[in-house]
Amino acid sequence: MNGVINEKITVVVPVFNEQESIAETISRLIRIREISCNEVDFDLIFVDDGSSDASLMKLREASSQHSFIKVLALSRNFGHQIAITAGIDYSDGDYVAVIDADLQDPPELIVDMYRRAKEGFDVVYGKRRSRAGETVFKKVTASVFYRLLRYMCEIDIPSDTGDFRIMSRRAVDAFNSMRERHRFVRGMVPWLGFKHVALEYERAERFAGVTKYPLKKMIAFAVNAILSFSSKPLTLAIRAGLFTILVGMAGGAYMLYLKLFTDVVVPGLTAILLTIVIFGGIQILLIGVVGEYIARIFEEVKGRPLYLVGETINV
Ligand code: UDP
Ligand code: MG
Repeated sequence: MNGVINEKITVVVPVFNEQESIAETISRLIRIREISCNEVDFDLIFVDDGSSDASLMKLREASSQHSFIKVLALSRNFGHQIAITAGIDYSDGDYVAVIDADLQDPPELIVDMYRRAKEGFDVVYGKRRSRAGETVFKKVTASVFYRLLRYMCEIDIPSDTGDFRIMSRRAVDAFNSMRERHRFVRGMVPWLGFKHVALEYERAERFAGVTKYPLKKMIAFAVNAILSFSSKPLTLAIRAGLFTILVGMAGGAYMLYLKLFTDVVVPGLTAILLTIVIFGGIQILLIGVVGEYIARIFEEVKGRPLYLVGETINV
């Protein structure tokens, strides 16, 4: 290095009720900024996603001491993915890194990601080698989820990745042009294409506090990922329909055969009732699937802003 730093990394940190870990996250990031001051400049954008605890207060405090700490307080809780989006929207670094506020992903890795990106990659994403402190249940559901996702979606979403990554300005600008409401960021980034590479790391336990993704939110996240990325459920519905028609036709042919060529009397009422109920259920279910897509179209055409900002500091 010749002492001239001409590049900046903006680090985006979504924050939702992280009062126990936010101070540590801030100081770790400040330290990284100091250590790498000869190599690259940093600024930090903390997106407060409508926290109801002392997170925002602590962020205000930190930003009053350091002008490179910027705060974007959303007007209410919009969700993790929207919070990330808001931070990326406001970023102006040559590279933009996204990292959770709970220190599960080591912030020190951002510099490694940057170096890797400098070798000619637009996206360097963190790939979890292990998931310390996560329950067997979370590991299993996560693995099923990524498998299902890969089956449902045409794009290749790398497994065991989260939203911990660094992107070049070119990738960020492309990402910013995708304004869909139902955002599944870790699918949208692979959609961009560009040159990308994984950086493996050990995922630590949460520094403090509890996960903000309880089971209900996790299921919603998974369903949303599939519905917003794939129309395969509709194709599957058509296939299921064709299959039941075939089964029905085969059954009908068999009944006809019994009637014409044998003396067997086909007793019917129960079978008929059961069939009606089962297929009634299947139909309602499939209408529901179609309805989910229509609901998404409805949400999309309303064209509301993705988020509203309540307060900005140092931005
Ligand atoms: N988060 C957010 N809005 C939400 C939920 C979570 O901004 O509605 C933030 C949270 O503060 C954390 C990150 O998103 O920085 C990831 O959340 P969490 O660690 O709870 O998820 P997990 O690691 O358990 O999947
Ligand atoms: Mg976490």
